[in-house]
Amino acid sequence: MKKPRGMALFCCATACSDLEIDIREVASVGDVQVKKLPCRVNAIERKADDVVVLKLQLPANERLQYLAGQYLEFILKDGKHRSYSMANAPHTEGPIELHIRHMPGGAFTDHVFNTMKERDILRFEAPLGTFFLREESNKPIVLLGSGTGFAPLKAIVEHAVFKNLNRPMTLYWGARRKKDLYLLELAEQWARDIPNFEFVPVLSEPDASDAWTGRVGFVHRAVIEDLPDLSAYQVYACGVPVMVESAQRDFTQHHGLPEDEFYADSFTSAADLANAV
Ligand SMILES: Cc1cc2nc3c(=O)[nH]c(=O)nc-3n(C[C@H](O)[C@H](O)[C@H](O)COP(=O)(O)OP(=O)(O)OC[C@H]3O[C@@H](n4cnc5c(N)ncnc54)[C@H](O)[C@@H]3O)c2cc1C
Repeated sequence: MKKPRGMALFCCATACSDLEIDIREVASVGDVQVKKLPCRVNAIERKADDVVVLKLQLPANERLQYLAGQYLEFILKDGKHRSYSMANAPHTEGPIELHIRHMPGGAFTDHVFNTMKERDILRFEAPLGTFFLREESNKPIVLLGSGTGFAPLKAIVEHAVFKNLNRPMTLYWGARRKKDLYLLELAEQWARDIPNFEFVPVLSEPDASDAWTGRVGFVHRAVIEDLPDLSAYQVYACGVPVMVESAQRDFTQHHGLPEDEFYADSFTSAADLANAV
C-alpha cells in the first residue's frame, strides 16, 4: 500500500547501497497533528512557593510532535480546558515538562498544588498555538517573559541550541521577587555556555532580603532601555496579559519593531476571558 504512493517503511527497510535520505522536518504548525492523549503525572517538583514543574509521561507507544513554544490544553473532568506551554524542546527524550504557577482559587492550579499526586492520569490536547521560533529569519532575537512565561522561552532556547542556530539571543525574564525567578541558575548557566546569548533578569518589587543588585522595574521597559531601536529584531513575548500587551504596544508604536516581528502567547485565564465578555 505504501510503495505505490512513493512511501517507505524505514522501520523494516534495509539499505542496499549508500543513500541520502531527505527528511521533511516539522517547521510550521500546519505540519503537526493535533492529538488528544492521556498522560501520567511523573513528578511534581516544587521550584518556588507558587511554582511547580510538572512532568508528564506519555503512553509507551506515543510521542508528541510539537514546535518549541507551543502549548497543550488539559481537558478537565467537567470539560473545562486549561492551557500550559511545553517547557522542554521537542527533541528531548523523556517526560513533557510544564511550569505551573498557583492561582489561588483557580480550578486547575488549586488541584495541582493541593491534591494532585504522582501517577495521576490526565488528558490533554496538543500541540496548540502559533508561538514558536521562526527559524527562517536571521534577525537577532529578544525573548521576553514574565513569571512562568519563562516555560516556552526555555523550550525555544533549548531548541535553538540543539539546531545550532547561533542567532544573537537576549532573554529578559521579569518577576516580582528574586524567588519568583524559579530557574535563575539555569538561565545564568545559559549565559555562560551559549555563544551570543545574554540574560537580563529584572525584578519589579525586590525587597531588602533579595539583596538584588540587578535591574529593577517592568521587564519590557528594560528591553526599551537597552534597545530603543527594535527595527532589526524579532521579539518573542510570553506571560501575563498586561506585560504582553504593553510590550506589543510600546515596541511596535514607539520603538520601530515591525508588527509582524512580534510573536506572543498571553497567559489569559478563563476568568480573564469571562470578565472580558
Ligand atoms: C496559551 C496559554 C498558555 C499558558 N501557559 C501557562 C504556563 O505555561 N504556565 C502557567 O502557569 N500558566 C499558563 N497559562 C495560564 C493557565 O492556562 C491558567 O489560566 C492558569 O493556570 C489558571 O488556571 P486555574 O484553572 O487554576 O484558574 P481559573 O479557574 O481559570 O481562575 C483563575 C483566577 O481567577 C480567579 N477567578 C476565577 N473565576 C473568577 C471570576 N469570575 N472573576 C474573577 N476572578 C475569578 C481564580 O480565583 C483564580 O485566581 C497559559 C494560558 C494560555 C492562554
